[in-house]
Amino acid sequence: MRKPFIAGNWKMYKTPVEAAAFVRELKDSLKDVSGVDVAVCPPFPALWPVKEALEGSDIALGAQNMHFEKEGAFTGEVSPAMLQDLGVKYVILGHSERRACFGETDELINQKIKAAFTWGLNPIFCVGETLEERERGITKAVVEIQVLKGLAEVTAEQAENLTIAYEPVWAIGTGKTATPEDAQEVCRFIRELLVNLFGKEIAEKVRIQYGGSVKPENIKELIVQPDIDGALVGGASLKVDSFTAIVKGS
Ligand code: PGA
Repeated sequence: MRKPFIAGNWKMYKTPVEAAAFVRELKDSLKDVSGVDVAVCPPFPALWPVKEALEGSDIALGAQNMHFEKEGAFTGEVSPAMLQDLGVKYVILGHSERRACFGETDELINQKIKAAFTWGLNPIFCVGETLEERERGITKAVVEIQVLKGLAEVTAEQAENLTIAYEPVWAIGTGKTATPEDAQEVCRFIRELLVNLFGKEIAEKVRIQYGGSVKPENIKELIVQPDIDGALVGGASLKVDSFTAIVKGS
């Protein structure tokens, strides 16, 4: 009932020239694929060349971050209005690297999520526990706080365009993946939180991705889980072969 959604989070990889060349190859590699939504999220300087290179394909464009203000004296920042103008459809918000390396709080992430909806951008909202939190048995408590604070004041109508990415921090870029059962349990829990926030009908529409060392070898066992609707892919999205295999496997 929910269409699978695979998004590539390129992080700080690929120059504009490399990104455009990559996407031309990817477009060709994915041309016969249907039944799955695909997005690539390049670094800011590559958004425009990637947008041009994507012309004529169903692959959507995503960004990895943004400020919540429309414009202003915020040196080094990029606004939702700028992303909208570029034809960006999705924006990754609250990624654990933004939280850990750049001090993003739940409150800031909430402002960004609300701004994204205001500007017609679809957030891919990332949540997930650290290894220490998992070992202390507080995974669900941590995820609950992130979800509730991140989605404060979001309306049910807006939530229809929301994607949540459950990314256990200890699984990101480490080669370690949550077992499909563990990932499903947390994704199910997230959906229950969404039921409480927005009602069952909307909660059933929200796509929940798993992220953290997703690769061609493990996508199948993850995607068959009832509450896992796709993946946010880092490392394996940087190669045409592996990203294509993940899309085809979902
Ligand atoms: P990874 O990254 O696939 O390289 O683990 C996922 C992410 O950070 O979104």
